[in-house]
Amino acid sequence: MSRAEELLRRVESYSDQMVEALARLTAVPALGPSNGGQGEMAKAELILPWLRDMGLEVQRADAPDPRVACGARPNLLASLAGGPGPAVWVLAHLDVVPVGDPALWSSDPWTLKVEGGRLVGRGTEDNHHGLVSALFGLKAVKELGLPLPGPAGLALVSDEETGSQYGLDHLLKARPGLFTSRDIIVVPDAGRPDGGLIEVAEKSIYWLRVEVTGKQVHGSTPHKGVNALYAAARMMVEARAVAQEFGQDNPLFRPPRSTCEPTAKEKGVDNINTIPGRDVFCLDCRVLPGIPLDEVRAEIERRFGAIAAEEGAGVAISEVQRLQAPPATPSEAPVVKALERAIARVHGLEPHAGGIGGGTVAAFFRQRGLPVAVWSSCQGTAHMPNEWTSLEAMVKDAQVFALLYAGL
Ligand SMILES: [Zn+2]
Repeated sequence: MSRAEELLRRVESYSDQMVEALARLTAVPALGPSNGGQGEMAKAELILPWLRDMGLEVQRADAPDPRVACGARPNLLASLAGGPGPAVWVLAHLDVVPVGDPALWSSDPWTLKVEGGRLVGRGTEDNHHGLVSALFGLKAVKELGLPLPGPAGLALVSDEETGSQYGLDHLLKARPGLFTSRDIIVVPDAGRPDGGLIEVAEKSIYWLRVEVTGKQVHGSTPHKGVNALYAAARMMVEARAVAQEFGQDNPLFRPPRSTCEPTAKEKGVDNINTIPGRDVFCLDCRVLPGIPLDEVRAEIERRFGAIAAEEGAGVAISEVQRLQAPPATPSEAPVVKALERAIARVHGLEPHAGGIGGGTVAAFFRQRGLPVAVWSSCQGTAHMPNEWTSLEAMVKDAQVFALLYAGL
């Protein structure tokens, strides 16, 4: 039997232990204080003995936070020493989101329910699936005593769901040399059920609120007023033309272009026979990386300003959210290549490196020039009632991480 086969079999033999670990993790809710919880310390204390029993070296980079009773948010670094090669890091998060409406759950969210191969409970997919698969991948490598080309690490951070200030952002500031640009860094926190998507890029997120002012008059005399809704409607149509302006195709993304869509809308006039003098709508723009959001803003101001002038209306645009996307991880980066090899072996498919439209915690790495890939085989049930993950996928992902750690 080859080393790789031996490793894959060893991981498979942990299947029951993985379910047991998942059950224990699910039973410890870890909600950040802004989600009404006491943070992640109880969960960290559950996991610490597991890490030590596995023979891992554990370091901490806890972030002080007076809002929680214990005064800190844990960030754990567990690692195995290896050769002089690049380190392999998997980063998972300890915190989970609230259950939402409990009536929508068919079982207790904090008690793992095993339904055949489905493992149901809050946090099962987001992010215990990634945590457990990396942990047991590391366990297999350690127990088989395989020679590691470089250090093998597992980073478990707090506060991913509420901004990462006390989690990855803190860790990167507290330990500036910990991750290097030659490392292989994987964040198992998004993906497709078959494991076929390696996320290497994300679009900028730009949310705008547009307030149009006109002059309110009787519905029978539009010529005496300025219809703010009409001007706003023209601007909404124009928004898509703005997206076209920044429309160079990037095949990493679906759709492969920037988008700029009208979304939320404030309530206007109540009655049909009044021409509205004020209208407010919002735009959700997802902009390809490399395009400065200031340029998008300037183009929107120019086009909407022209419409307002034609209609005799006023327009005021304000920013609700601005997240300029960091540069993409190159599709040829070692982390992508290593994942492609391991995924092909375990999942029997050729994954594709692509981008997504929204922000992930990986942005904190990319902003520092650290090549990171976001990958897991997940169902897409995060934050939903009856969140679940697949046992088969969790075991397969553990196999992928074991291969990655062992450099096979
Ligand atoms: Zn997550």
